[in-house]
Amino acid sequence: MQLDDHAEELASALGVDKEEVKEDLENLVQYSVPLDEAKQSIRRKHGGGGGGSTPSSKDVADITTEDGSVNVTVRVLTAGTRTIRYQGDDITIREGELADGTGKVSYTAWQDFGFEAGDSITIGNAGIREWDGKPELNLNDSSTVAMASEEVDVEYPVGGDADLLDLEPGDRGRNVEVQVLEVEERTINGRDGDTDILSGVVGDESARLPFTDWDPHTEIEEGASLRIEDVYIREFRGVPSVNLSEFSTVTELASPVAVNDSAPKLSVREAVDSGGMFDVEVVGNLLAVRDGSGLIERCPECARVIQNGQCRSHGAVEGEDDLRVKGILDDGTDTVTVVLDADLTERVYGGDVTDAKEAARDAMDKEVVADAIREEIVGLEFRVRGNLSVDEYGANLDAEEFAESDDDPADRARELLAEVGVTEVKA
Ligand SMILES: [Zn+2]
Repeated sequence: MQLDDHAEELASALGVDKEEVKEDLENLVQYSVPLDEAKQSIRRKHGGGGGGSTPSSKDVADITTEDGSVNVTVRVLTAGTRTIRYQGDDITIREGELADGTGKVSYTAWQDFGFEAGDSITIGNAGIREWDGKPELNLNDSSTVAMASEEVDVEYPVGGDADLLDLEPGDRGRNVEVQVLEVEERTINGRDGDTDILSGVVGDESARLPFTDWDPHTEIEEGASLRIEDVYIREFRGVPSVNLSEFSTVTELASPVAVNDSAPKLSVREAVDSGGMFDVEVVGNLLAVRDGSGLIERCPECARVIQNGQCRSHGAVEGEDDLRVKGILDDGTDTVTVVLDADLTERVYGGDVTDAKEAARDAMDKEVVADAIREEIVGLEFRVRGNLSVDEYGANLDAEEFAESDDDPADRARELLAEVGVTEVKA
């Protein structure tokens, strides 16, 4: 690092004039004062304190959660804006990622320091806090931000544009170009009472993901192709979801965004190992239909399945009849619990809730419905497409599509051969 850079960083950290600091530094170094000592004495002169708590300059890769505070010169990769409620007040924060030549780090800025994605900046006295086991920079009242004299080279994409497939929970300040595939208006009971929001599904050529717009934008309509800037990503039932806020901007695109209609086809093991996927397709044998399938009762308040008229949250309730299947699907690599909703269950059962109740009444046993379903599907091979969530209760695949596999074993053998690079030899 050049003396000039040290001066700039120090001036920024102390919030004083760079030229003055540089002159002092030059003088001290000229008199053979070691650089660190020289910087220390300049800090003292400006009331920056001389103790070990003074921040030191660090490469991003060297920042640890043990650091109290640091000075860094970095490139702003992303800059998202969000309002959070902190100790009863709404605070607008900026958040995203910063990088230098050695690595990248997340940050939260508790005020607007005026920097944008792409800027090269020197941050003085950034606090370090631990977030998800990793250090994160905390820019607060005692931090300073100055434009760096030179652009900081980084090996990461700058600006925040991303394909849906690449988004991960925790990402902020991202920009996507998507087609709105589904959208519905909902009223939720939020922190400020009843609030209208939009939720649905967006897609691009890489993937489909659920989204929530917390401050409904009028451009969001089914079929619209949009560029959406400044979204943040949260985990929703084990998959990333795109979140729009009052700070997100939505622009209609002149040409439609292409959407991939098919879901990624994975083995059950691959799908489960991914930790959850919004849209995935697996093929396997239906080994068994689990208890809690067939004719079930749900709590009218929370829609949870209830036993003997007792909801775990709401006590004794008048249950509402519903149909559901929880089946165990196995493809040889692993198993997953496939959950069929009422519509799909009606199709495999061949009747609706009324038919099921009638059958249960005739037999004086609810279980006849599940038994009838078992007879229809256990032992057969199915292609299942849906939303996979993986949590401490196991892997659940909420089926959107559930169809008997029409895969010809010979076809599959050919596919496998093609995958391993063997070209089919025609007889
Ligand atoms: Zn309930």
